[in-house]
Amino acid sequence: MKLDRLGDFQRTHRNGDLRLDHAGQTVRLLGWCRRVRNLGSLVFLDLRDRWGLVQLVANEETADPELLAKLKAVRSEFVLAAEGVVAERESKNPNMATGDIEIRLTGLRILNTAATLPFPLEDEGVGEDLRLTYRFLDLRREQLQRNMILRSETSNIIRNYFRKHDFVEFETPILGKSTPEGARDYLVPSRVHAGEFFALPQSPQLYKQMLQVSGFERYVQICRCFRDEDLRADRQPEFTQVDVEMSFVRQEDIQNLIEGLMVELCPLVGKHPVAPFPRLTYKDAMEWYGSDKPDLRCKIKIQDVTGLFVGSEFNLFRAAADSQGQRRVRGLFLPGEAAGAFSRKQLDELQETAKQLGAGGLPYAKWGKDGLASSFKKFISPELEAELKATLGIRGEGLAIFAVGTDDQTSRVLGELRLRLARTFGLTDPSAFEFLWVVDFPLLQWDEEDQRFVACHHPFTSPHPDDLDLLQSNPGACRAVAYDLVLNGYELGGGSIRIHDAETQSLMFHTIGISESEARAKFGYLLDALAFGAPPHGGLALGLDRLVMLLAGEDNIREVIAFPKTAQARCLMTDAPSPVDERQLRDLHLLQDSKQTYRVGAVFFESAEGGNAELRGQALQQISQMTPRQSQGLVTLDAQGQILDAQTLSGPTFDF
Ligand code: ASP
Repeated sequence: MKLDRLGDFQRTHRNGDLRLDHAGQTVRLLGWCRRVRNLGSLVFLDLRDRWGLVQLVANEETADPELLAKLKAVRSEFVLAAEGVVAERESKNPNMATGDIEIRLTGLRILNTAATLPFPLEDEGVGEDLRLTYRFLDLRREQLQRNMILRSETSNIIRNYFRKHDFVEFETPILGKSTPEGARDYLVPSRVHAGEFFALPQSPQLYKQMLQVSGFERYVQICRCFRDEDLRADRQPEFTQVDVEMSFVRQEDIQNLIEGLMVELCPLVGKHPVAPFPRLTYKDAMEWYGSDKPDLRCKIKIQDVTGLFVGSEFNLFRAAADSQGQRRVRGLFLPGEAAGAFSRKQLDELQETAKQLGAGGLPYAKWGKDGLASSFKKFISPELEAELKATLGIRGEGLAIFAVGTDDQTSRVLGELRLRLARTFGLTDPSAFEFLWVVDFPLLQWDEEDQRFVACHHPFTSPHPDDLDLLQSNPGACRAVAYDLVLNGYELGGGSIRIHDAETQSLMFHTIGISESEARAKFGYLLDALAFGAPPHGGLALGLDRLVMLLAGEDNIREVIAFPKTAQARCLMTDAPSPVDERQLRDLHLLQDSKQTYRVGAVFFESAEGGNAELRGQALQQISQMTPRQSQGLVTLDAQGQILDAQTLSGPTFDF
């Protein structure tokens, strides 16, 4: 088909803006043909641009034959320039913003044709892989257009907000240094420095702290971060953070600032949260909601009922009551007729879910039309029933479920079932926006695999001032000045007040098993910076993808990212990652005949495979002198058996 030129054609209006007020005006429009319909003597065409959809029409009997022929040649997704006169429609379409009018065509240019699309844009049920393969077409869909524009507006408000509050926007390096701790790094081999690697930033954490030492006081960056982790619906290998750091602040200052931002952002989607947001300690969040990111759209709380079973005949619960707090019985009550009428079969399914979550079973008590039914009814005396009702807030019909075990076990089971059942019984208001802060997180947690403490947030987080002594005497009990912002059960972001003196920072490294020499090698610049007049400082980072996802009412962050990766960390459109030439590998020193990389088996010191056994043996010996830990790793040797590089796949890395 011979194409027309855009030439000097100038658009006069955006398609979605046209209204009855424009009737009688001649307009010039641009866009894509959504579809053409031939209805007797009238030919209709819906023309779409970024701002909306408008109906074009030509009358077979009165239209110019050349125009008509051209119009009939148009197929879906052809690119068009159209001229016509705005006219009131005979039959209006109330579902369309421009539904009161149509454009009587006087001219048409076909700027480009389009092959038949691999899927119809209106089809909601297209598989995600196909959508991601043709993401450039998928992005034509109204929902994704809306999401991308919402994302852009969100970023604009964020930038303006921080500018208004005197923040300086920075760009920190993408090519950075690999550090132990945190998630797995994405590495970039250096061509210039054989055998050395940059790491993509997991976050600009230390750069933003350096900028506080430099005296900028207020830093902000909307930045990309990279973590080589297993993916979930709300995670991507690369994601965007709104990264903030401030000097001379307390936790409350940061919270107030971020609340102000949320209050400005939410009206974008018609929500009006009221600050200050509730603040809940980590301990209370776990106790009442079984989660460190509770969804407060559901008001139901988990309660401790252990005390009601002291001396009970019900062995399972009594044993917990006798365990002096080691194990507890906790429960929650879901009110309503539907919950009270939960069938045997549904309860069986619930048992299965509870088992998958690690519970032995799921004791329940249900108050329905026929009174009480329970998996442990014979142990429920009228007094116990009254006590259960009082403790769990039971009024009327409904279902109570119980879990017994350690706090972790019962939190996991009840936290998850609280959410699922609240959804099942309509006890969560899906349109609500419930923000809260979770504060007083533990500073450290014990890592069974590595047999050491690791930082819950990151190793630059300040211990709670009241718990400083615990850092040495009982590290596991030490709280952090760390806080998470939670919205509707999602962690929107988190941050902390930082350690700002070198001594505490060194103590922290020591506590998490980073030796002095390793700390120097990996974090020397931080320790130096802290020694040169570092101000007290703190900050936080918000996940922009997650924030936009929640604003957009989506439940998958891929819906708010223009070109996301799949859950298998691939880009289906560009087919990345992909193999590269041997030449490139050689340039990057990743392929060398004289070098051999050994994968040092399941455990560094016990098994190994491949390559030259003698060299491997030497390598293992050298490594074992350097670390007493058992880890998996890669060791690269030259032909003489010298170690060029050794990296553990978890735990520390080594310099040579
Ligand atoms: N850098 C931290 C993170 O990415 C956030 C912060 O502490 O500011 O989680």
